Amino acid sequence: MDFKPLKLSDHDLRQIDEEKINKLSKTAVKNLSITLLNDLKEARERLNQNSKNSSIPPSSEAPWDKASKYEDAEEDSQSLNDIEALDKAIHADKQALGSDCHVEEIDTPPPSEASSEPETKATPVATQEGSTPRKPGKQPGAQGFGREQKITVHQHEPHYPDQCVLCDNVFNSNHSRVAYTAFDTLTLKWGDLSQPGIVVVNTRHIYYESPCPCGHVTQAAPLRQPPDSLLPGVELSQWRLIGSSLAALIVCLSFRMRLSRPRIREFLHDWLGITLSVGSINKAIHESGRAAMPLENELLEEVLKSELLHVDETPWQQKGDLLWLWAFISSSVAVFWISSRSGDLINRILANNAYKGWLMSDGYRVYRQFLKRLRCWAHLVRKARGLIEAYDKEPQAFGKETLDFLNTLIAAIKNARETPPDKPLSELYKDQLVTYRQTCEQMKFSTHQKTHALAVEMLNDWDVIFTVLDHPHLPLTNNEAERALRHWVILRRISYGTRTEQGSRIFALLASITETCRIRQQCPWRYLESVIDNRRAGFLVPPLPVVIS
Ligand SMILES: [Zn+2]
Repeated sequence: MDFKPLKLSDHDLRQIDEEKINKLSKTAVKNLSITLLNDLKEARERLNQNSKNSSIPPSSEAPWDKASKYEDAEEDSQSLNDIEALDKAIHADKQALGSDCHVEEIDTPPPSEASSEPETKATPVATQEGSTPRKPGKQPGAQGFGREQKITVHQHEPHYPDQCVLCDNVFNSNHSRVAYTAFDTLTLKWGDLSQPGIVVVNTRHIYYESPCPCGHVTQAAPLRQPPDSLLPGVELSQWRLIGSSLAALIVCLSFRMRLSRPRIREFLHDWLGITLSVGSINKAIHESGRAAMPLENELLEEVLKSELLHVDETPWQQKGDLLWLWAFISSSVAVFWISSRSGDLINRILANNAYKGWLMSDGYRVYRQFLKRLRCWAHLVRKARGLIEAYDKEPQAFGKETLDFLNTLIAAIKNARETPPDKPLSELYKDQLVTYRQTCEQMKFSTHQKTHALAVEMLNDWDVIFTVLDHPHLPLTNNEAERALRHWVILRRISYGTRTEQGSRIFALLASITETCRIRQQCPWRYLESVIDNRRAGFLVPPLPVVIS
């Protein structure tokens, strides 16, 4: 749940007192009252906010509504002090700015690294954040990777205050203004087919303050989004060394190229000359997830609208817990979700039977509530083949009969897609279906475990398995979902899964966006860049790219 940024900063509030307000014009007092009222309402809402009374629909928060389970819950209260931290940083930087506006990397590594290596100059912001327990990754005492990096500034971008927040006096270029802080942001200029390549651009953002004749000093400030109660400790801010395009590259290297955080650091250092800490890389991924969080609902709505959905799951590790990574794949959307293997999740994602399309899945019983269900024949074919390789005659014969029958029907279904038959295939093959069903009824009593199991499976899901005979345009396999999961299975082996609920949620969301863009034949990284840019600046998330048909 996002909050609106407050209009008056601590810096502003410290300057405002009764004496100042008494000197203001009537209009200025009225305007200031409205600003104060809005800020007060917003601050009250933040105080009262929790997941029980937020407007977040249950579907999007359900698996993570156990807020007390967050190991790093204390980070939440820490980041509430963001604005104060910024102010402190600003005052410290003021000294350093002097004549040539000298600033170092402001992006801060996690405390474990900040205390062990001089990779980045520790600013007051770093000390503000520095009390979290041991984090995964490099430990104190481990050899430092880089050193303090001074990158040539390619361009300057000044940010001036437009008007006095106290009396609304509009500032023009003649007004005196003083640079009070600055930071560098690294962005990437992407090449394209006509001009390949990638250029790193370092922009120094300089923020100014202007004194007003009324005595108030107004500062332009980079936007720092207030904490998100659902993602405690994940900051979203314009105050960043890692620009949106660089963040998108980091997500690409992690999610698409499956590089570990240390490998990403190595790649950026060796190929782009950018030295970042593993902590900063991790932060950039988490910030990207928070920026994209409003898309979770849009993705789930797309899933519900699908006419045909492939669903599958694969084991997933979250620290010590064995969970499942679920995939919901249609022709226009991919949604991944990490959760326990439970019917609750299916009910949440498919909104308690609100889903009215076709559902292709395995034989897991939670799917049985859906009427328009399809079964993957590849699994049945595989099981039949397995029986053929058994040692006894009975399983061999049942395996062969099943395989032959399925192969006959597969050929008929493929044929029907080209030339629709006069009668439904279920009628054309009525007799064969009756005969095969009789075999299954007999094999149900087989003492051979796998023969018994396949016969029972066939009989239990009979209608669902042979639904496709009446709808030959529907798929015969669940390959779509299995293929979509394969990529992440390899990633899981490399990364050993995720470590926290928050990490799992962000992982699943970024995976969903990446795959959805790819299904829609759009570049996920340019889109993600725009998502991060918009959200850092306080705008709405741009809608998902549309399907290219
Ligand atoms: Zn003023």
